Amino acid sequence: MRKNKRRYRQKLTKLKVISKTIQLSSKGQDDVIDITKQVSNIVKDSNIENGTVTIFVVGSTAAVTTIEYEPGLINDFPEMLSRIIPKNIEYEHDNTWHDGNGHSHVRASLVGPSLTVPIINGKLTLGTWQQIVLLEMDTRPRNRNLILQIMS
Ligand code: ZN
Repeated sequence: MRKNKRRYRQKLTKLKVISKTIQLSSKGQDDVIDITKQVSNIVKDSNIENGTVTIFVVGSTAAVTTIEYEPGLINDFPEMLSRIIPKNIEYEHDNTWHDGNGHSHVRASLVGPSLTVPIINGKLTLGTWQQIVLLEMDTRPRNRNLILQIMS
């Protein structure tokens, strides 16, 4: 029992954490940016064989998810969001701040700010037709910081 505990503690102290930032500029609302290459390059450079990478966008009007990055879907996905969270209805957020992006905040919260991808044998375990994307939902072009945290 005691031996197991000690071994467990040793494992915990060996936890490796690498944090990196990707900076990019969006064109504004409905911009879908493929960040797969940047993420996989950072994972490659980390020399981590097995672990996870978390991709987190800083800010409450953008989101991170995966999609097949092809011209149809990069229109279909924002279209879907505009059907379930329309721009032209009343948002209390706009009454508070008058910045006209209540729908952007709600869309971003629904999709979520982060994604975790398992790394196995030094590679992201993505499907061939599965890309990691940043979804810009704000009404104007924004500079975005994406935090990558690799743990193993
Ligand atoms: Zn706002």
